[in-house]
Amino acid sequence: MATPDQMDRVVNLCKRRGLVFPSSEIYGGFRSTWDYGPLGVELKRNVKDAWWRSMVQLRDDIVGLDAAILMAPKVWEASGHLATFTDPLVDCRSCKERFRADHLPGSGACPNCGAKDSFTEARHFNLMFKTFVGPVEDDAAVAYLRPETAQGIFVNFANIQTTSRKKPPFGVAQIGKSFRNEITPGNFIFRTREFEQMEMEYFVPPGDADHWYEHWCQERLRWHLDLGIPESKLRLRPHDPEELSHYSTATSDVEYEFPWGWGELEGIANRTDFDLKQHAESSGQELTYFDQENDRRYVPYVIEPALGADRATLAFLLAAYEEEDVANGKGGTEKRTVLHLDPRLAPIKAAVLPLSRNERLTPIAEEIAGALRPHFMIDVDSSGSIGRRYRRQDEVGTPYCVTVDFDTLDDHAVTVRDRDSMTQERIPVDGLVTYLREQLPW
Ligand code: ATP
Repeated sequence: MATPDQMDRVVNLCKRRGLVFPSSEIYGGFRSTWDYGPLGVELKRNVKDAWWRSMVQLRDDIVGLDAAILMAPKVWEASGHLATFTDPLVDCRSCKERFRADHLPGSGACPNCGAKDSFTEARHFNLMFKTFVGPVEDDAAVAYLRPETAQGIFVNFANIQTTSRKKPPFGVAQIGKSFRNEITPGNFIFRTREFEQMEMEYFVPPGDADHWYEHWCQERLRWHLDLGIPESKLRLRPHDPEELSHYSTATSDVEYEFPWGWGELEGIANRTDFDLKQHAESSGQELTYFDQENDRRYVPYVIEPALGADRATLAFLLAAYEEEDVANGKGGTEKRTVLHLDPRLAPIKAAVLPLSRNERLTPIAEEIAGALRPHFMIDVDSSGSIGRRYRRQDEVGTPYCVTVDFDTLDDHAVTVRDRDSMTQERIPVDGLVTYLREQLPW
């Protein structure tokens, strides 16, 4: 069972090893914003690549899009975001802290100061960030940072359908930044005001919507499990009718058991024909599909799986984190911290470790590193004892360490150590890329 303590350890590891830093740290940080460091950017990129691969590359019914963050303000009027994308905000009269009314504990006590019945009436607070386009800051120049990537897909429906010649059921996938002026960001990268979403809008004939909704619920669960989230930590939670968004007839959340409890990782919603109809009405453009075979025109229904790249990255980190006792080679044990990340997600795939900084070993280690580099993200580390270097790679999840030793000079082979089992195998240098390719399919 993950504990809050484990969260601290993961946050600590992220800072210490260059995965995630507090943003603007030299100025004391900035309101729950985070920067991904050299290893974190690789990890998050691998999470996004795994999503893109399963959603776009491996399917013939889904295409990609990269829409602008700034869109015509009319988009947000038509989508309903201007009127209804709000959270209920309350203030504690006692300590002045602000909270989301729907996130308060049942006890009625202020989570900050403990005061009872101290909250103001809830006010609706719009979560969209406002800005101005151009030099004049007047009402005509107001624009919004997108709070979700989905609307970029809806407004491009006709462009994409006609140019890609896809027929429903077909989908459009997009990865990109979204912005929400969250009242209470927190829990590290779980809830931030600037985050990345991976959303896919799947357009289907209205009569098939229930089938595809079920399909995507199962498919998305499978994706998380396949990349290493244990079954015991994952569940699908259907929304109660009163919880549903105004546009949705069915929504389920894929939830992960975070150290503080179950939390949403991904939402899968049947958005009906709400968005296309709204944009058609508001823009005056036709956003329909003509089904030639059945001679009928219809507005497709939309099934949407929407996942946060940062939340997914956090779940993969928490699920992978382990501290274990291992033999220290001197008859005793020692602690090792290891990230059992799926190799597809690991920031570094292999580390080349010359046994020492000997002048005969360095050139051959460099040559091996040069041969691996075009194929994999690699690291070369020659400082400290070999045991310490293994630990450094274990704690950032590097699946393979390639040790170059004095025997390498004679037998042209290296020792490949597996992160999880810690077993070692002697592999000829000539066959090293092929060997690693077999273990790391992409
Ligand atoms: P929540 O109830 O946690 O506020 P939501 O239901 O509003 O989330 P959606 O609008 O369904 O979230 O967004 C889809 C996904 O985007 C979420 O499942 C989550 O992974 C991610 N996401 C949403 N808001 C944030 C945020 N503030 N920070 C990080 N990720 C987010």
